[in-house]
Amino acid sequence: MVATAHAFVDYMGYPAAMSASVPRLLLLAPHNSYRIAPYLLAAQELGVEVTVASAGRHSLVSAISEGLHIDFDEPAAALAVLQQAHLSTPFSAVIGSDDHSSELACQAAAIFGLPYNPPGAAAIARRKDKARACLLAAGVRVPSHFLLDLQQPLAAQLGKLRYPCVLKPLALSASRGVIRADDAAAFSRAAARIETILRDNQHAEEGRYVLVEDYIEGIEVAYEGLLDHGELQQLALFDKPDALQGPFFEETYYITPSRHNEGLQRAVHKTVADACRAYGLQQGPVHAEVRIDAHGRVWVMEVAARTIGGECARLVELATGQRLETLVLAQALGQPLPCSKFSGGAGVLMIPIAEAGILRRVEGTLAAQAVEGIAELVISVREGHELLPVPDGSSYLGFIYAVTEDAAQAEQALREAHAKLKIVTAPLFRLHAGQ
Ligand code: ADP
Repeated sequence: MVATAHAFVDYMGYPAAMSASVPRLLLLAPHNSYRIAPYLLAAQELGVEVTVASAGRHSLVSAISEGLHIDFDEPAAALAVLQQAHLSTPFSAVIGSDDHSSELACQAAAIFGLPYNPPGAAAIARRKDKARACLLAAGVRVPSHFLLDLQQPLAAQLGKLRYPCVLKPLALSASRGVIRADDAAAFSRAAARIETILRDNQHAEEGRYVLVEDYIEGIEVAYEGLLDHGELQQLALFDKPDALQGPFFEETYYITPSRHNEGLQRAVHKTVADACRAYGLQQGPVHAEVRIDAHGRVWVMEVAARTIGGECARLVELATGQRLETLVLAQALGQPLPCSKFSGGAGVLMIPIAEAGILRRVEGTLAAQAVEGIAELVISVREGHELLPVPDGSSYLGFIYAVTEDAAQAEQALREAHAKLKIVTAPLFRLHAGQ
């Protein structure tokens, strides 16, 4: 049986009542993706049937366990499964939820004759080295870079190296493995650390090469937008008020609306649009991170063909009046929705994991929640779970949201709330065989 949004709706305890004529969406997603639930809710809002294709045969969520089961690492076999489903009951649109799934989603859309991004464009956007090369060729500003081969002696490869530089894996996300090095000793330590992170990566290139690039000094903003037939519409621009200078680059505060001047905001939009054009992206969500240097020049850190990560999508909902996933679904189905202009301020703090260990408890949550302007505080790690800070890990302790009159107040409220939290951890002792 193929599960649809009905199954999820049943699971959530709501009545299922959709006719055969409703649009059918194929959602490709890693089975444990937190993006699946918001997409299913959005589908429910729009009256759309969703078939989830994932590797989640044993998921406890019926929409996943009863959906299509595919192996993203076996694209040919996966496409055959998707095509079979499309032949029996055609889909109206295809969406990939994450970096990893959007490439296959584009291939499926191309086979079904549905509008989406060309598969090559999604593949470029997903791989940092290919993305850099593509943008450089198109004249979009990216740091000078080269590939380091972890299987060859380092010293012989460092002819083009300038300090400070940044080392990063080719295809990880959420700043995992992204490390700044200011000198030769830091460079070797960073390379060794990334090698450990990539130890289990079986991909021929992604497990072997590291991208090394000039460190760009500057402020950073995050951009969220939606492409429609190649036209990029900005949904929200987030300031990142903490200086992200490394050596590790954990995300913390996202504040909207941006407090940067109009000219700079336009320059950011133009750079992201240029990058999308260079990749060949046409349709769907775009999430970008850019840096602005002291001369006002905009440098692309990343432009991805997916929605913003984590719980930050909720800020987009505040800024547009629509759930981000609802906008994405509506646009995929050719029913674009109006966005409202947000007049207040909002922000999220991705609560950083300061030190590794086992989470014992988080103190001060009530006091943090009581700070004026704090809308919600979510601790997503449970007591007893292991905490792993960046660059080795890539998750957060939780999220704090603020909704206030303006952006400055949102930032202030989040800082105040964060100061009230005390994270109590216990050391983690690993037992190794033979010790
Ligand atoms: P990921 O996709 O894992 O988030 P990115 O390449 O986007 O990795 O890098 C994560 C963060 O690291 C960026 O948002 C930025 O703050 C910092 N960073 C990455 N590359 C550079 C660079 N060349 N110069 C300055 N900062 C960088």
